[in-house]
Amino acid sequence: MKSSDDLKRCVRRICELLECEYGRKKHPAKTDPIDTLVLTILSQTTNFKNCKAAYEGLTAEYKTWQDVLEAPEDDLAKAISIGGLGRIKARRIKNALSRIKEKEGEVDLRFLAAMSTEDAMGFLLSMDGVGQKTAACVLCFSFGKPCFPVDTHIYRICKRLGLGGNSREEIASLIVETIAGNKLCAFHLNLVEHGRRICTARNPKCNDCVLKDYCY
Ligand code: SF4
Repeated sequence: MKSSDDLKRCVRRICELLECEYGRKKHPAKTDPIDTLVLTILSQTTNFKNCKAAYEGLTAEYKTWQDVLEAPEDDLAKAISIGGLGRIKARRIKNALSRIKEKEGEVDLRFLAAMSTEDAMGFLLSMDGVGQKTAACVLCFSFGKPCFPVDTHIYRICKRLGLGGNSREEIASLIVETIAGNKLCAFHLNLVEHGRRICTARNPKCNDCVLKDYCY
């Protein structure tokens, strides 16, 4: 069992090694928070290509988020069906938009900027179908708040490396406590790239892995 200091040293070294391997990625331009929220809901249990196609289908059909909120659930499910789980995702999107409107009187999430990270996270997590990854994506990519989205790739790699316990929340906490806020986004993107290229779900390429000295 590693001590907390050992775990943090390990996380810092992993961040450096991935940066040497894949470069320090720039923080992508901040996106509208509702765009990020909806995109991340659409990305659940599908690949990037189908998620993008579902988002394009949605935005081609509806011009504003208010239109999406007012749309019948069946129509919405049809517009995003290419991403899979159309009905479930349509319900989650409508619930999220409805919750935002209920709180703010309009379909706009920019009010989260003025909230503490903890309160903003709490508000997002109160939405049905919004978990750690989705909430952290919104706060990290749209507001630059110190949050770390733990997606499937990152969860798998961190488990294999013995980092941060069993839950996504524990992994995210360890990383946020260890890595400077302005490097969190780059670290997230490098871990995802490592998961896609090397530390794949099946047959990871351990011989080619720059992290192998830190892996169980
Ligand atoms: S050594 Fe293998 S299992 Fe460990 S992080 Fe690298 S690819 Fe993944």
